Amino acid sequence: MDWIRLTKSGKDLTGLKGRLIEVTEEELKKHNKKDDCWICIRGFVYNVSPYMEYHPGGEDELMRAAGSDGTDLFDQVHRWVNYESMLKECLVGRMAMKPAFPKGMLPQSQVTDTLAKEGPSSPSYDWFQTDSLVTIVIYTKQKDINLDSVIVDHRDDSFRAETVIKDYSYLVHVALSHEIQEDFSVLVVENVGKIEIVLKKKENTSWKCLGHPQENHNSFIPKKDTGLFYRKCQLVSKEDVTHDTKLFCLMLPPSTHLEVPVGQHVYLRLPITGTEIVKPYTPVCDSLFSEFKEPVLPNNIYIYFLIKIYPAGFFTPELDQLQIGDYVSVSNPEGNFIISQLQELEDLFLLAAGTGFTPMVKVLNYALTNIPSLRKVKLMFFNKTEDDIIWRSQLEKLAFKDKRFEVEFVLSAPTSEWSGKQGYISPALLSEFLKRRSDTSKVLICLCGPTPFTEQGMKMLHDLNFSKDEIHSFTA
Ligand code: FAD
Ligand code: NAD
Repeated sequence: MDWIRLTKSGKDLTGLKGRLIEVTEEELKKHNKKDDCWICIRGFVYNVSPYMEYHPGGEDELMRAAGSDGTDLFDQVHRWVNYESMLKECLVGRMAMKPAFPKGMLPQSQVTDTLAKEGPSSPSYDWFQTDSLVTIVIYTKQKDINLDSVIVDHRDDSFRAETVIKDYSYLVHVALSHEIQEDFSVLVVENVGKIEIVLKKKENTSWKCLGHPQENHNSFIPKKDTGLFYRKCQLVSKEDVTHDTKLFCLMLPPSTHLEVPVGQHVYLRLPITGTEIVKPYTPVCDSLFSEFKEPVLPNNIYIYFLIKIYPAGFFTPELDQLQIGDYVSVSNPEGNFIISQLQELEDLFLLAAGTGFTPMVKVLNYALTNIPSLRKVKLMFFNKTEDDIIWRSQLEKLAFKDKRFEVEFVLSAPTSEWSGKQGYISPALLSEFLKRRSDTSKVLICLCGPTPFTEQGMKMLHDLNFSKDEIHSFTA
């Protein structure tokens, strides 16, 4: 908030009195001290000296990119942070000689050349029409493609279909040549990796072309090099779950196809005193009892979140202020959990602390419904007090209904009446809880919570001789 106040104060933060300049590489290199520090991100140069003391990661972290192109470093740490908005008052100008090609802007031939060496082969697209329909076909050349691999957004005449293939993103992005109706369908032919997006024409005329290419159309680039795409979603409902945690339901805009894969999160974005602020959240199901089925359009238009409101927090009090009908922007999904980690699993152990429970919801639901080999799912749920336990009665009901599922609550600040387990995560708690059925049984342990919880937990699991492949920790 202090930083935002400073940016609104009218103070000259670049030292250039509002002028924007072209910056050469030589010039950039000169500004490499704390009190005169320029950094280039995606071809734009910022004077970050005034921001130094506000940087959550500290001054030294920022200095690592002083006088140079900090794009890669920035992307490694927090590519989802909306620096354009946060640093707009610090903009010095553009690079005259770009230190590298701006991310996502590589000429097509270079994209293909780079990928041919290191990534999956580039998809392609085609389109055809009947009197009433236009079908866009994306040939991914991959077998493990499904409905959550493609995200479609159609607004006004702009049509955007992003297909995620491993760590790469393939984009079809055009301004359509004619109008289409609001609803469309997305079909995936999994065994050949073909995606069909069927659009309904508004008028039965013949289209000469699909439309005009928009930014990054027909590009296939590493996902980490693409910006996050957001769409505005409407708040449909907000229910109390505990004294400080609420279930938010957001509705996707019409003409959107977006399914957040199991174990992945999205970024929510809100303008806070004129600056776009972004935080990550993990979508959940509306309850533990919504059977996990393949979502079918057009019902798949709601996204649910369990969000703890921190009264002294920056983002969540603003989120809590939203009224039904208000909008919040939701990004494309991110995350490194892969559903195949659950295949042929026999024992699934979930270690969750506080809202670290959120990624476990879909993992639990998916595993119980879709993994025939599964014999046991055990959740150890760490909270401060009984009042903090999210969906306690649902968890107990699920354990009663499905004998494969067990839940154990561990409290770090219980009242004197609490007779269950107490304390923080510990080797003693874990070694008692994590009983392998046999030496050869396939096991996965998922871990999520406050950073010290996750870090300590990871270390304890390694000490207990679980291998890296048997552990997944959820982080940003
Ligand atoms: P913040 O401003 O970050 O503050 C949080 C608390 O820390 C407050 O009590 C504040 O007073 C205190 N604090 C802040 N700064 C300091 C400081 N310097 N020293 C001491 N105390 C401080 N959360 C959910 O509720 N649900 C989810 O589904 C969810 N999913 C997530 C997924 C991922 C991948 C990650 C990384 C996080 C997720 N989170 C989730 C956490 C979420 O992103 C936010 O961190 C959280 O909502 C707090 O945001 P805030 O801006 O309101 O609070
Ligand atoms: P909290 O403060 O209510 O604590 C819950 C439990 O975490 C405590 O009872 C304790 O058992 C454990 N814990 C807390 N501090 C600890 C410490 N220093 N050492 C060991 N154990 C500790 O938790 P909260 O406010 O609900 O916060 C949840 C955290 O989970 C947030 O930091 C959030 O960012 C994170 N989160 C991450 C993801 C993700 O995918 N990476 C998803 C959701 C939440």
